[in-house]
Amino acid sequence: MPGTITRRHCLRRFTTAAAAGFLGQQTRSQLSAEEHQPGGECVIDSHVHLKHGDAARTEYSPEVIVQVMDAVGIARSVVFAMSTTTQQSIQMAQRAVAKFPDRLIPFVYALPHYERPVIREIAEALAGGIFRGIKIHAGECTLAEYVIDPVLKLAGCAGVPCLVDCVGHLAAARRMARSFPQTTIIIAHMGRYLSRDPKLIDQFLDLAAECPNVFLDTSGVVLVEKISEAVERLGSERLIWGTDGPHPQPDLASFARAELDKIRGLSLSPEEKANILGRNIARLLRLS
Ligand SMILES: [Zn+2]
Repeated sequence: MPGTITRRHCLRRFTTAAAAGFLGQQTRSQLSAEEHQPGGECVIDSHVHLKHGDAARTEYSPEVIVQVMDAVGIARSVVFAMSTTTQQSIQMAQRAVAKFPDRLIPFVYALPHYERPVIREIAEALAGGIFRGIKIHAGECTLAEYVIDPVLKLAGCAGVPCLVDCVGHLAAARRMARSFPQTTIIIAHMGRYLSRDPKLIDQFLDLAAECPNVFLDTSGVVLVEKISEAVERLGSERLIWGTDGPHPQPDLASFARAELDKIRGLSLSPEEKANILGRNIARLLRLS
């Protein structure tokens, strides 16, 4: 594997922990995404919160998350916590994944801390081989270069994607994507959560058209026609499905099912839908 040495050296630069297990564990945890493929479609939710960023900082247990997945037919889910420190996010995700190692895929949450060098905590989490990506939220962490660039650099070096909620900050997203072409950036909500501004979403489509390292997450996208337009412009390989759940309205399962139906109801080919619903994130996370 040609990238092995580079990735290891990279992680060692950031962490005091030996990164020796990184690729070995990664291979071991490469649970076949095909295992859960009823009818050739493997549904992977790429955006699930163990802890949300809402006012109540709502938490969901891994048991509840897996119950929703079972009810809706979701094979695996990317899980992470926000509204907490990086260290806590790592511990919460570790506990969840220890209970459901075949179903849950953890991301580490990147949030600067005055007392500790967070970049080392992120690198150590990635070096452990279980964490497969990094979550960044502009609601809690500035996307200014002097804060976020070390994280983007590490992600590119480690070969893991960053799921970034940039809360509509197009200029910041553009700067990150252009500055770190080796880093895969998944833009949450195609730019902004529940956006009803077609021009803003078009600008994020422009960014994805310009930068091949940019992918678009369909969770919380209410202008559903923009998803079809994105497929037309970029190809279905650049879109990633997620629920941004769990969400209690109207109920946990119905919320997730509605997000799934949002994609299934589009006038796209089965191939395109399969890409969006699971294949693309499986490829980015090297699940298959
Ligand atoms: Zn979210």
